[in-house]
Amino acid sequence: MKEGIHPAYYQAKVVCNCGNEFVVGSTKKEIHVEVCSKCHPFYTGQQKAASARGRIDAFNRKYGLNK
Ligand SMILES: [Zn+2]
Repeated sequence: MKEGIHPAYYQAKVVCNCGNEFVVGSTKKEIHVEVCSKCHPFYTGQQKAASARGRIDAFNRKYGLNK
């Protein structure tokens, strides 16, 4: 077995500019980001839109309007 092929794997602490912190698996020990999923309006807006679309699709399937 050669050493150095697999990089060390850490539970990296991600620190966002908004103050939010969360942990991800990474080869870096600490990551700083400018926006995260909590403070990025585009990101959170996307999630809300996706869930709304899901409900509409379910409605259409239920009443057979989406054929
Ligand atoms: Zn953030």
